[in-house]
Amino acid sequence: MAAASLAPRKSLGQHFLLDEAICRRIAAQAGDLAGRHVIEVGPGPGGLTRALLATPAASVVAVEFDSRAVALLAPLAEASAGRLRVIEGDALGLDLATLVPAPRHIIANLPYNVATPLLVGWLRDAAAFERLTLMFQQEVAERIAAAPDTSAYGRLSVLAQWRCRVQLVMSLPPGAFRPPPKVWSAVVVLDPKPEAPDPALFRALERTTAAAFGQRRKMLRGSLKSLGDAEGLLAGAGIDGSRRAETLTVEEFERLALGVLRRVTP
Ligand code: SAM
Repeated sequence: MAAASLAPRKSLGQHFLLDEAICRRIAAQAGDLAGRHVIEVGPGPGGLTRALLATPAASVVAVEFDSRAVALLAPLAEASAGRLRVIEGDALGLDLATLVPAPRHIIANLPYNVATPLLVGWLRDAAAFERLTLMFQQEVAERIAAAPDTSAYGRLSVLAQWRCRVQLVMSLPPGAFRPPPKVWSAVVVLDPKPEAPDPALFRALERTTAAAFGQRRKMLRGSLKSLGDAEGLLAGAGIDGSRRAETLTVEEFERLALGVLRRVTP
């Protein structure tokens, strides 16, 4: 890092993992990678990348925004006998599934400032991936894995759990990173359900959860008004309008989203 003048940049969410044992533990959470194609977002100086190359993965494609890190990783790519390809680019603007053939994994210590939009984008196309093994801020990881009737349960829990089986598998203290972030971090493993739903239904679920959790203290008959006939929607889904968003299961949100979709496309 010193040789490449890779002073960490806060604006790029750069908190690096330099401990080999921790990188190996994260890679191990992905399960058996033999014959799998791995996409890593934000390799930085390449600690996790090296751990991924040490697995039997068929290939690793790493997408990095920072040209300094891309240059730093060039010798590693050269020494990898074609197993590592580093792409300079913004992962937010890329369709990751087009970069490698199936079976695909995404494994990353994500830049925290764009972690949520990255995850929501991948959930839209979740069936393209066998597993996602992702490091988030602990609080975001808890929201992704939260159960109904808890304060962490929200839009992200519903979207993630509708498309994937979700497990929070390990937490790391700030001191594991250089420089240390202010908060703890956690790895979430997401196993997508194999069926790919209608993209319009995912959009309807996004709209429904945004309305419901946008005013989470309100009863649903109030918070869902922005979707149109809230009472009709709730009756159609068999849900009592005096309930609040955080009491609904993922399956109940799906029923509401189906109602929203039917009204758009009768
Ligand atoms: N994987 C490395 C590690 O664990 O040491 C670095 C992780 S650091 C939390 C996040 C990385 O994502 C940084 O290298 C940063 O430059 C990169 N990054 C930030 N925004 C990005 C984006 N939009 N697309 C691709 N990479 C990005």
